[in-house]
Amino acid sequence: MGLIVQKFGGSSVADAERVFRVANRVVDTYDEGNDVVVVVSAQGDTTDDLIAKAQEINKNASKREMDVLLSAGEQISMSLLAMAIEKLGRPVVSLTGWQAGVNTDINYSKARIKRVVGERIHHELDKKKIVIVAGFQGINKFDDITTLGRGGSDTSAVAIAAALGADLCQIFTDVTGVYTTDPRIVPEARKLNEITYDEMLELASAGANVLHNRSVELAKKFNVNMEVLSSFEKVPGTIVKEENTVEKMLIRGIARDNDVARIALVNIDDTPGKAFQIFSILAKKKVNVDVILQSIGRDGSKDISFTVSSDDLETALNIINENNAIIGAEKVIHDENVSKVSVVGAGMTSNPGVAALMFEALYDAGINIQMISTSEIRVSVLIDRKDAEKAVKAIHDKFELNN
Ligand code: ADP
Ligand code: ASP
Ligand code: MG
Repeated sequence: MGLIVQKFGGSSVADAERVFRVANRVVDTYDEGNDVVVVVSAQGDTTDDLIAKAQEINKNASKREMDVLLSAGEQISMSLLAMAIEKLGRPVVSLTGWQAGVNTDINYSKARIKRVVGERIHHELDKKKIVIVAGFQGINKFDDITTLGRGGSDTSAVAIAAALGADLCQIFTDVTGVYTTDPRIVPEARKLNEITYDEMLELASAGANVLHNRSVELAKKFNVNMEVLSSFEKVPGTIVKEENTVEKMLIRGIARDNDVARIALVNIDDTPGKAFQIFSILAKKKVNVDVILQSIGRDGSKDISFTVSSDDLETALNIINENNAIIGAEKVIHDENVSKVSVVGAGMTSNPGVAALMFEALYDAGINIQMISTSEIRVSVLIDRKDAEKAVKAIHDKFELNN
C-alpha cells in the first residue's frame, strides 16, 4: 500500500476501449489499497490535429493562444477516463493543471514546472478518490495556461510524484519498456530491465522520445522511483534509477534525432570573440545550439557550423542574417536533411574505443560523418537523414546489443 502516480500516454487512451482498459488498470491499483493519482495525455493524434486546426486559422498564432488550444486535448482525456472509472463504481475526480496546482514559468509552449502545490490533490486523496490530472499543462503567474513542450505529460507525472512524495511513478506507454533502441527502427532491439537516470537522460535528450527528457531530470533530482511499462501487456517494464545499483554495461542504447538542422557560417574572420558573438546573439533569442564544429583557421578565415532543432532553424537563420554585418560570414548555408545518432552508456567512461567502434560501423555501412560531439557517457554523430535508420541498425549490430 502506498501512493502511486500512473501516467498514460496518447496511444494508451486513444479510443473508448483503451480508456476502459486504462480505467481497469487504475482501479486494480486502487483496489489493492493504494492512493492513485493518474496523469493523462491527449488521445491519439489529438495534439497534432489541434495544431493543424490552428494552422487553418492563423499560421502565426500567438504561443499563448496555442497553449489554450492544446491544453484542451488533455482535458478531454481526463474527463473521459473519469467517466469510465465512475462507470466501474469507484470514486474519482479529474483536475486540470491549474486545479492540481501545477505552477510553471511564463514560457508559453515550453514552460518549465516551478512548483506543484499538492493541497487539492491531497484533499481529494483523503476523501479516498482516484485523482486524474491533465498532463502537459500548468498555469503561470499571470493565471494563463501554459504547456510543457511535446511529450511533456511524462514531466507532469514525475513533478506530481515528486511533490506528493509518491512511492512510485509508472509511465505506461505503447512499448513494454525502454529498449536498446527504438524497437520501431530495429525490431531486434532488447528491452532493458534497468537503466540509470543519467543514461536515460542522455538517451531522451538525444531523441529517444519514450520519455520526455525533463521528466528524467526531475526524477533524478528528486529521486523518484520511475518505471516505464506497457499499458497493453501486463509484463515487467524498465526501472530508471540511481547508477550504483544498476549493472554496468558498455553501451546501454542508441538514439536517433530527426528534429535537427545544420547551419554553417563560411569564411568568417579568424579573430578572437567570433564564437562568443554568434552564440550570445542566438542565446539571447532563446535558440538552443547543440553540436558545434569550428574549422582550423586558414588565410585568416575559418568556418563555424552548428546544429539547432528544426523548429528553431528559421529563427536562427533570421538572427544570423540580421547580424551578419557584425559576424561577417561570406556565406550562410543550412541543411535540414540531417539526423543525429547517439550511443549512450555509463560504461564508456572507463572503456576507450566506443567511438572507434561506432565509426567503424558507420564506415562499414558506407555512411559519411558530418559532425561529432561527445559527453562523458555519449558519442553523437551528425549524418545525412536518409542514412539514419541504416546507421542505427549498423551500430546496434556492431555493439551486439540484441543479445
Ligand atoms: P506516449 O504517447 O505513451 O507518451 P511516445 O510515442 O511518446 O508514447 O513514446 C513511446 C515511443 O517511443 C515508442 O512507441 C517508440 O517508438 C519510441 N522509442 C524511441 N526510442 C525508444 C527506446 N529506446 N525504447 C523504447 N521506445 C522508444
Ligand atoms: N499531448 C502532448 C503531445 O502530444 C503531450 C504528451 O503527449 O505528453 O505532445
Ligand atoms: Mg511520450
